[in-house]
Order: sequence, then structure tokens, then C-alpha cells
Amino acid sequence: DALLEYGFPQGYIELLKTRGIRRLNPVQSEAVEKGLFTGGNLVVSAPTASGKTLIAELALVYNWLNHGKGVYLTPLRALASEKYGEFKTLEALGVRVGVSTGDYDEPAEYLSWYDIIVATYERFDSILRQKPSWLRDVGLVVVDEIHMASDPERGPIVEVIAARLLRQGIRIIGLSATIGNPEALAEWLNAVLVNTDWRPVRLVEGYLDKKKPGLVFPVENRVESVDLENRDPFLDIPLHNVVELGLQTLVFIHNRRKVEDYAVEAARHLPMLPEDAVKPFISELEDAPTSIERDVLSDLIRRGVGFHHAGLSSIARSTVEKAFRSRLLKIVYATPTLAAGVNLPARRVLVSVKRYDASRGRRVNISISEYKQMAGRAGRPGYDEIGESVITDASSSSEALKYINGSPEPVVGKLLSERSLRIHVLSLVASGEASSIDEVSGILSFTLSMKQAKGSLFQSAKIMGAVKLLEELSMIESSGNNSLKATRLGRVTSHTYLDPLSISIYRELKPVEPSNLYLLHVACLTPDFKRSSPYIQDKIVEKLEDVALEMADQGMIPSPSKTSLDYEEWLDGFMHAMILYDWINEVSEDEIVSRYMIGPGDLYSMRDTASWITHALARVEAVLGDIRFHKALDTLSRRIEEGVREDALELITLRLIGRVRARILIQHGIKSLRDLAETPLSKIASLPKFGPRIAEEIDRQLRDLGYK
Ligand code: ADP
Repeated sequence: DALLEYGFPQGYIELLKTRGIRRLNPVQSEAVEKGLFTGGNLVVSAPTASGKTLIAELALVYNWLNHGKGVYLTPLRALASEKYGEFKTLEALGVRVGVSTGDYDEPAEYLSWYDIIVATYERFDSILRQKPSWLRDVGLVVVDEIHMASDPERGPIVEVIAARLLRQGIRIIGLSATIGNPEALAEWLNAVLVNTDWRPVRLVEGYLDKKKPGLVFPVENRVESVDLENRDPFLDIPLHNVVELGLQTLVFIHNRRKVEDYAVEAARHLPMLPEDAVKPFISELEDAPTSIERDVLSDLIRRGVGFHHAGLSSIARSTVEKAFRSRLLKIVYATPTLAAGVNLPARRVLVSVKRYDASRGRRVNISISEYKQMAGRAGRPGYDEIGESVITDASSSSEALKYINGSPEPVVGKLLSERSLRIHVLSLVASGEASSIDEVSGILSFTLSMKQAKGSLFQSAKIMGAVKLLEELSMIESSGNNSLKATRLGRVTSHTYLDPLSISIYRELKPVEPSNLYLLHVACLTPDFKRSSPYIQDKIVEKLEDVALEMADQGMIPSPSKTSLDYEEWLDGFMHAMILYDWINEVSEDEIVSRYMIGPGDLYSMRDTASWITHALARVEAVLGDIRFHKALDTLSRRIEEGVREDALELITLRLIGRVRARILIQHGIKSLRDLAETPLSKIASLPKFGPRIAEEIDRQLRDLGYK
């Protein structure tokens, strides 16, 4: 009824009902009371699954009813597509919903068609730099997971986005998990705060006391005895949960190898499930790119166990998520990326509070925020009365109680790192939003970091330092009376979204001839690549070290003595370059994964990063006028994106033709779209991995393209 009063159409109320929403929950009512529909910025700090998304949705629909465009920002692509899926239901009301997470330098003007746009932080940051005309219609930006402002890597992006919006007076609604200082976030955004611990399902936190042995739930003063038969809590407790109590369990461990090994071990103790029940999931996995996923994971699923980490392909991850949601899987072992990403609650959650820190060479304790994020996944709304979380490896009960009774760490801005400052100072100058150091400082004064630093002289020295570096890199020019201007190089750098230092590394190492392996190695040495590249085991690196030195001697890759990097980094970069080199030479995923001992998910994330970097470098070369390198990098980027040799680039432009089918066609003498158009359908259908359905689809596309 409250919604009708605010002018929401009856159709929307009905739509909510079909989604099981009949009345607002306490968090949502509080948000309405505190001005959700009267304007003004708002910060909602509440636990996972407390219905924050609906608060945002109500505001977006209200904004749409009042002819405003809305934007919803998430930290991850996977979350963006999840939210896009949810908001899609609004199309029944005539709301046009779009999603944009793709290439950073893709033009943004076409998004003007949409009323609600779901995007990642990075994509929206790049849109703000392009300043498309529709920005003036934006009435509301929702920033999901705004506590990410604390993240050393992504946080500064959140801060700068918010600073720009604050300065332009665009309404911001920040959604946050529980944090230590929600008041500070609200103050930063000049927002009203809704701060609550309300959860739809009660959370009971406990820990394993190995001496008893038992699971202790201090708040309830309850101890549940558990038999540590195998002397391994990560095995015994999940089995106890499932076999004795019938409770679906999610186990968080900070190590991929262990996540896989435990899953295999747990499955040995569980009976086979009926083939009918598992069949749909197994057949989905048949499309997974590696045999570990097709075979090992399928065998686990047959016994109701799964694992989940960033090294998996997206097919495998989504199969595991679906199978757990459908309650077929009884136990899923996962790394914490699962807790940060998709919504996958469980009746019981086990949490490991230790993780190995490579830089310190020993195990360290995770933060309270990280713990709360994982523990908060316990309890499935609509199914469970309560959710329970259990700390499995606390060193003592007092350590466990620190997590259980503690509050999450405060959010602290991270903009003042050198990397963040050079990136964001350049973007402000290149977009024309700031044309002097004072103006840069003026905009940055709206960031959380600056608010928290209280504008000390030290901070302005850092900004000056970034400006000076950008001048040295020829990206910014200053003229008299303190005015700053971006050069062409500076503007294209900002548009490509690369770190200015990546460009300078490229320019320092640029070879005489554009050879692919060399260029790949350079791309892998940039800070933009290194921050997300996978770890390669020492024994694999050692095997290739001599090869690397030999190649460097012959000038096939940059020399380790020439680079400003250290030797280890140079060698790591070489390993990553070799992986990508295999990839663009059509080595199979199975082979790559076993040769370098990485997961398929690692390969795909390297592919995405490297194709973006080489594409960006190609654009830089276009602007600088070196057409030979522009062409080489552009081709390389497309090859990385598709994992193919150059001769397959034409064929893979068709849908359903990827690296494998393209090669089959070429081996059968079909080398171009023209050749394909001249080949009888029956012949195409008879090729391995084709068949009539695919042949017809190809035929249709060729007709559309005018080849037939
Ligand atoms: P959060 O964003 O806080 O993590 P979600 O918005 O994802 O939480 O909400 C969790 C679940 O609760 C969703 O499935 C959502 O549809 C449901 N939900 C939210 N609000 C209500 C409500 N008022 N009544 C019934 N279900 C609700």
C-alpha cells in the first residue's frame, strides 16, 4: 500500500507478488521512512540477503517513473549479469534494462536507449570518461558493495566515481555489507544511513573445539558433539552434517588445491545418487573445456559433492551453483571468491580462518570482514529457520570468539597509492573535468581517502608527484599559470583504461620487429596484467628458465637486464607469455592446463586481460602513427580473444564456430567464408563436431551476410 501512495503502478505491485514479495521487510521499510522516495543520498548497511537489492530496485523504478535514467553498479561481471537478470523482470512495465560490462573503450552512446543500466565499476568509470550525452539524464546511481571502497585495487575506482557524482549532485544510493564504520561512509556521501543487523534467517555462529570434541555455539550455550573419525575437521564435520543431520553444507577454504582434494575425499564416503537426478548437470558439464571438469567433477557430482573456485571455467562454476541450489549437492568446497560473488546460501557454512600468505611465507588469520562475509552465507531464506556457521580451524576458543563477537574492520580509502593517483589524475585531466592541479584536488576532495586524510599537505604532495610523473611520460603538459592539458598520448591512454605505466613499459621495451611472443611478453610485464595473473608453480618455471634466457639472448623476448623489473617478474611474465602463445597457436585447453598446472578459469582470465591490453596498445600505436605495430597488435589481440592462429580469424567471426571447429574446416580445405558458402550443407554437416543443426545455423548466417 505504501508503494501505491508513492505512485507505483498496480502492475508493479503484482509483479512483486509473482516474485514472492508481498510486503516490505524491516530494512526496506526503514529505508522508505528515511527518504528512499524523497531524494537525498542513502547508505544501506545490512547483512547479505537482507533485501538490499529490492531497496535499490524500488528507487530505480521510482526514478524511472519520474523520467530519470538509473545506473546500478556492481564489483563483478558475474554479479552484473545476476542483477541484470533480476531487473529484466521490470521490462513487463516497459522499463528498458541493459547491461554493459564489456570492453572499456567501447563507445557508450548506444546505452542511451536504456532506462536502467547495470554495469561494473570499471565500465562505468570508463563511461564517465567518455561523457556520453545521456549522462545528463541520470537521476540515480546505485553503488552495490560500496564497502569495496576499501579494496586496494578496485576501491579507488569506487571513490572517484562517487566523487564525480557528488560534485555533479547526482543521487547516490550505496549498498554495503556490514562494516565497522557505516557512519563514515554515510558522512562521506552526505547520505542518510540505514544501519541494521536484521536478517531474514537467524544466524548462529559457532566454532570447533577440538578438545571436547564438539561444535560450540556460544550465544545459544549449545555444544554439538562430533566424531572426528578421520582426524580432519574439514572432512569429518561436513560428513557429520550430511550423513547424521542431513544438512547441506558449504565449506570455505582459502586454497584451491585443498578445495579439490577435500571434495574428492568427501565423495569417497558418500553413496552414488540416482543417475536420473544427476543427469542434467552431468550433461551440462560435457561442454566444459577440460577433462578435469568433464570427468573428475562429474564423478563428484554423482556423489553429491562439488567444488568451486576461480580456476574453473564458467560452465563448471555455474553447474556447481545450480546443482547446489537444487539441493542435489550436499557438500560444496569453495574458495572465498564464492562468498564475494553469487548468492549461494547453505544451511550450514564451515569457515577456515587461516590462509597462506606467500609474501610472509606462513599462515595468517583472515580479517573479520572476510569471515563475516562467508559466515553470512548460512541460512537459506524461505527454507531454513536458522543458518549456522562454524569456524573450523581457530587456534583457540578466544580466537574464535574474536571473530564471532568482533565487528568488521572499518572502510578506509586507498586512493593515495601511486598507481591509483596516476590513473585517476590522468583521467580527470584527459576528460577535461580538471585543467589545473587545484581542480584535480578539488574533485579528489570529494573522495573518501581525502576526507579521511583531512587534506594534509602530504596528500597534495602526492597529487603533485602523480602530475610530475605524467608529465615525464608525456601524457600531460603544463603551461603557464598552472594549467594542465592532456597530450594525445595521455588522452588515448585514459580512453584505453590502461595504467599510464603500462604504456611506458611498452614504449621502453618495444622491439624493432613486431613478433608475437615478444609482444606477449611485454603485455605480461605491464602492471595491468600482473595484478591478476595466476601463480605458476616453481617446478614448472624452473623447467623453462633456460629456454627463456636463451630466447632473451637471441632477442626473441625482452632481455631481463634491459627491463626495469626484477628477474623473478621477468621470468613470471615469460611463463604467462608462453601460456598465451600456446593458446593462440591452438594448443588444446586440456594440454595447456596440464602443461602449466593452472585452471581453465585462469587461462580465460589471462586471455581477457591480455586481449584488452594488446587491443589498447594497438589503439595507442594508431594514435602515435606506427601502423605496422598497430596492425600486429590488433591481430594479436583478436587471436588472443579467440585462441586461434591468424588463418582462422575470418571463420571464427561466425557464431558456433570457435577455435576447434574453425581448425576442422581449414583442415578440410575450407579457409574462408567464401569457401564455406561454396561447400554443400551436407558436407559441412558431415564434418566431425558439426552435424545438421550447426550446418543450418552456419548457412543462415552466411545468407544474412550476403555470401549466399
Ligand atoms: P541483499 O541484496 O541484501 O544481499 P537480496 O536483495 O538478494 O539481498 O535479497 C535476498 C532474497 O530475499 C531475494 O531472493 C529477494 O527476492 C528476497 N526478498 C527481498 N525482499 C523481500 C521481501 N520484502 N519479501 C520477500 N522476499 C524478499
